[in-house]
Amino acid sequence: MNSTGLANGVRGNAAVASKYKVVVARGDGIGPEIMDAVLRILKAVNAPLSLEEIEIGESVYRRGVTSGIEPEAWETLRSAGTFLKAPITTPLGHGYKSLNVTARKSLSLYANVRPVRSYDPYVTTKHPGMDVVVVRENEEDTYGGIEHRQTDEVAQCLKLITRPGTERIVRFAFEYARAHGRDKVSCFTKQNIMKITDGLFYRIFQEIAPEYPDIETDHWLIDIGTAMLADQPNRFDVIVTPNLYGDIISDVAAQIAGSVGLAGSANVGPTVAMFEAVHGSAPDIAGRDRANPSGLLNAAVMMLAHLGAAPEAQLIQNAWLATLERGYHTPDIANDSTTTEVVGTQKFADRVIYHLGEEPERLQPARFPVNAVRADDRAGSRPSGGNETHTAPARKHLVGVDVFLDWDESGRDAAILGVALEAACPPRFRLSMITNRGTKVYPNGLAETFCTDHWRCRFVASGDNPEQRHLLELWHALTEAGFEIIKTEHLYRHGDEDGFSRGQGE
Ligand code: NAD
Repeated sequence: MNSTGLANGVRGNAAVASKYKVVVARGDGIGPEIMDAVLRILKAVNAPLSLEEIEIGESVYRRGVTSGIEPEAWETLRSAGTFLKAPITTPLGHGYKSLNVTARKSLSLYANVRPVRSYDPYVTTKHPGMDVVVVRENEEDTYGGIEHRQTDEVAQCLKLITRPGTERIVRFAFEYARAHGRDKVSCFTKQNIMKITDGLFYRIFQEIAPEYPDIETDHWLIDIGTAMLADQPNRFDVIVTPNLYGDIISDVAAQIAGSVGLAGSANVGPTVAMFEAVHGSAPDIAGRDRANPSGLLNAAVMMLAHLGAAPEAQLIQNAWLATLERGYHTPDIANDSTTTEVVGTQKFADRVIYHLGEEPERLQPARFPVNAVRADDRAGSRPSGGNETHTAPARKHLVGVDVFLDWDESGRDAAILGVALEAACPPRFRLSMITNRGTKVYPNGLAETFCTDHWRCRFVASGDNPEQRHLLELWHALTEAGFEIIKTEHLYRHGDEDGFSRGQGE
């Protein structure tokens, strides 16, 4: 590891009180060359940064470190708090873990922020004027990686949406909108189908929105919302959404803007923030001075704004926009109508440095408020849990249990299973329904319904509410009758609300 002081103590005409510690990783493939270009530009504006370099990626994986990062580097990241990361190559094959996923989870980088803009006519786009920021929840949802294969035919992935996690990301989105002068926050979910998980996300969005009366809000179901984003992106400003949807729509947004190679992204947590280009290590063009450094440069601009170095962020962003306008384009964005010279990675950086102090004429100039409050500070992203609402827990009582069986007998006839389960059921419970892949098949199932070997059998109290220990009676009775239980889910009511989805006709 080595330390590089970039700043000389002066930025613009103002004296700089302190330097921000930033950890830099040059990464793999085109990583080192685009990082060189970006660091030269940061140096040219005397960005008040103190840099420390760590090694990550392919070389570390090859040494047998399956996470791609040496254990001591985590401490370096923790103490600096800011990470500017070039793309890395994840070796193919089992056993190698994605460094990005590890970093997000280990450092609790809960907010993924991806601004997507079009730069018409300098970068070919389907949507001139597009300017959208996707704020994606980064830790929860199906990305916990909790998966099980339960039967021969059926595998499951657990989708976890939490109140504190959702409050944090929704507040972050509103604070981000305020700090960046944006007028509207849209929430994307599938709450009409996943009423409890996505329903919670949407409900929290509705709870928090009134705290921001200056910001317009709306909600879209993810399917039509994505279609609308692809067709009429100008309807949207900031979008907040759970992890999986955010992963998908941020790529859709970047692709239709025409600028996947230009997009930077921030992963923000309570104590550490990581900034990187959206693209990968592009091994096909590595070492050929053809890579566009703009994605990493835009990430560095986000980093400067995040740290509070707004003047430098603005200076670089405007010089970069002026460079695009003058037609100095790397091969990936070169076009017949606006390119005056196709330049390599380093010459592109030279042009950005040359245009420092200029503003674009046609494109919207960048404005970073000098005293902007950081969205994560205001969103309450401190490790303690910040200013999430701690509502008194609702009284929770057990009303039954869903027992999942691996059953592949009697031609998978649900009526036969139902009668056998009713016969085995102890008196404290009654079988209320059986579903297969969520479709009710007993009682009154339809012969046409396709059934796998995976059955959800709902047992509810026949009289007083059961206690935990009574579930063991049921477990005992069913296993004695020869059934194979692969999982159970307890049915609770929380206050006067069901904590479980009801089947049709229940
Ligand atoms: P990629 O983004 O590296 O490349 C896709 C295509 O885009 C290639 O044709 C490439 O030449 C081009 N491209 C990408 N960035 C460019 C740039 N700055 N300038 C000009 N052209 C550019 O995606 P991939 O090929 O699927 O992945 C390559 C490697 O990158 C893989 O090992 C993958 O795991 C890794 N990856 C890393 C990250 C990260 O570190 N954040 C992200 C995505 C992929």
